[in-house]
Amino acid sequence: MSADWETLIPKPKSCFLRVRCPDCGNEQLVYSNPVNVIRCNICKTTLASPTGGKAKISGEITAIME
Ligand SMILES: [Zn+2]
Repeated sequence: MSADWETLIPKPKSCFLRVRCPDCGNEQLVYSNPVNVIRCNICKTTLASPTGGKAKISGEITAIME
C-alpha cells in the first residue's frame, strides 16, 4: 500500500469548542485550530490563540462539538 500525501502530512483533528469567557462569562463556539486570534464577542478578551495546530484556549472549555 503506497502512502499518499494525506498519510505523509496527517491533518490535525479539528472540532468546535464551546469556550466560556473568563472575564464576562459569555460562551461562544471556537474552532479548535484557528488561524487568527479569537476574541470574546462581548468584551473582546482573547479566548483562543493560534499555535499552528490546536489553539491555546484562554477560557474554560464547557463542551466539545465534533
Ligand atoms: Zn467576554
